[in-house]
Amino acid sequence: TLVDLFHSFAPRGDKTALVNRTGVRRFAVSYGELSVLSLKMAALLARHGVEPGDRVLLWGPNSSWWGVAYWGIIMRGAIAVPVDFMSDRGRAESILKLTQAKVVLQSRFKPERLQVENSLLLEDLKYLLEEVAPYPDVVHPAPDDIAQLIYTSGTTGNPKGVILTHKNLVANILQINRQVPIITPEFSFLSLLPLSHMFEQMGGFFTPLYRGGAVIYPRTLKPSAIMEALGEEDVYVIMSVPRLMQLLKTTIERELAEKHLTGVFAALARIGAGLSKPARKKLFFPVQRKFGAHFTVFVSGGAPLDPDVFRFWDSMGFTVLEGYGLSECSPVLCVNTIDKQVAGSVGPPLPGVELRLDGKEVVVRGDNVFPGYYQNEAATRDAFTADGWFKTGDLGEIGPDGWLTIKGREKELIVTGGGVNVYPDELEAVLNKVPGVKESCVIGLDRGAGEEVHAVLLLDDSGAKPDEILARANAQLDTMHQITGCTIWREPEFPKTTTLKIKKFQVKEQVKQGAA
Ligand code: ATP
Repeated sequence: TLVDLFHSFAPRGDKTALVNRTGVRRFAVSYGELSVLSLKMAALLARHGVEPGDRVLLWGPNSSWWGVAYWGIIMRGAIAVPVDFMSDRGRAESILKLTQAKVVLQSRFKPERLQVENSLLLEDLKYLLEEVAPYPDVVHPAPDDIAQLIYTSGTTGNPKGVILTHKNLVANILQINRQVPIITPEFSFLSLLPLSHMFEQMGGFFTPLYRGGAVIYPRTLKPSAIMEALGEEDVYVIMSVPRLMQLLKTTIERELAEKHLTGVFAALARIGAGLSKPARKKLFFPVQRKFGAHFTVFVSGGAPLDPDVFRFWDSMGFTVLEGYGLSECSPVLCVNTIDKQVAGSVGPPLPGVELRLDGKEVVVRGDNVFPGYYQNEAATRDAFTADGWFKTGDLGEIGPDGWLTIKGREKELIVTGGGVNVYPDELEAVLNKVPGVKESCVIGLDRGAGEEVHAVLLLDDSGAKPDEILARANAQLDTMHQITGCTIWREPEFPKTTTLKIKKFQVKEQVKQGAA
């Protein structure tokens, strides 16, 4: 259980666990302090009437205090309900209602806080905990007890409460560590994505804490703040989403262009292509240096990583590990390995994860797979096959070596009038590279006899014409997969989830109503 993991904290004493760079000063919490503060937190929750099994809402930004609050909830035997800090009050309110949480832990930095009787501000914990004695360490949950509820980010519709048990979470920590033992106690992990999302929570919180590494929270998510943290801390790994890796790539490319070094970079990349990774690292020393002395690994997941983005980082000698998973699986199912990385593939399944294709759908089994949705039997029934495998809703292909490639989501697959299957991800990858396109979202619009392949385009200010863009994209696509319709997105951005995925169902609704 997570309590067993918690017990490894105290013996590590002064070793740094969590570091906030978010405040005025850098603020570090050691493993010893994390242990004591969390037990004090458990006592504070008990004082506020929280009993084992009660739900506690945790609605705050990434910080050391989020970690203290989380472990406090676990050490009281309660159930954590992390809510994305960027959510509006409406969503937090509906999750509060669905879970009947006893206490709400929220942030001073959110003007629209929940107005509930039992509310504590995360920023006040430092003072509140000074007055409390640590709670006796008496809670011993069973592996199948619920540790937390994660409400899905909602790329495809209504958020559902994913139940994750102690066993689910601990299983995934161990599976990941066996396949990619990249975290070591010596180096730090830079945490960028919201801790309310399973991907960051598993990769950037549980896994480093299991291995005794330090987790750094940067000031903001701006590329400049990320580069600053990389330069000043001993960061070894970043957990990222494709969009963020793309943004960092653009930042570097812009800098190279300003210094008239684009050609030099391309020449070095060509030379490096035939060299080993350490040799490539040396070749790109000036760029490497900006990332700090130890930075080595990018983990990417949550959405498909464009092979060009993979190659950009790989060519400089960084290790890019693309992985695949879902909240329902704690979340990781597959990840590329340290010895071998393949652009476009999400790697082999983790040890202990059984994975097969039902038709084209990826279905899975393993200790990391959730038992069901919270108080939602209908959704739970739909989520599993008759023989108990979880249906991911993703379409994939398994190579002869057992490595998985994700083709797209079943719900987003477009079936044209001619009966051809079109994967939006593949078309978006082409569109996003056409000059003039900032970002694209391909959807299927029902036209009676099959769906129309429709591109929704967010344009940059270069003035490129939509029909020219379509013509250039279609020239790269075969005749069966042509884009036949197009809408220009007039808002400055597409609606996004916290992991920077486009909320496709929302885009589709707006296009259907002619409001784009
Ligand atoms: P929903 O709200 O509908 O459950 P979500 O995006 O909020 O969707 P998450 O658990 O956040 O759900 O994300 C899981 C999904 O992200 C997977 O089902 C898959 O479609 C997609 N995904 C994750 N990793 C990858 C990857 N490496 N390549 C392609 N798709 C990926």
